[in-house]
Amino acid sequence: MLRHNNSGIRSPLGLAPEEVPCVQCDRREAGLAWGDFCAICREDRRRKADRTAQRYAIGAGLALGAWLIWRTPPALPQRIFGAVSVVLVYIIVRRTVSRLVQEYLPKEVR
Ligand SMILES: [Zn+2]
Repeated sequence: MLRHNNSGIRSPLGLAPEEVPCVQCDRREAGLAWGDFCAICREDRRRKADRTAQRYAIGAGLALGAWLIWRTPPALPQRIFGAVSVVLVYIIVRRTVSRLVQEYLPKEVR
């Protein structure tokens, strides 16, 4: 069985994965695709994107909650349905915005 060499040690046959520089910080990492971010930069971008996404998700959740309080009758089944839909909108908006920001956040020159 063929196994991919991920030990980081250059083998005599030259089968070790090539160390590719990160597109943002020039730190070399084995197995990285050309033009991709290293693990540290990817984690940094994910944290920034999550902060932005959380703000948008809270805004969307509050807007939907206010609209539901204003428009739905004050009966228990409608209130439960409204609460569940607010939670779902929060989760969906947060995940979507986080993904979009990670994709389109410009790289920082260091
Ligand atoms: Zn990097």
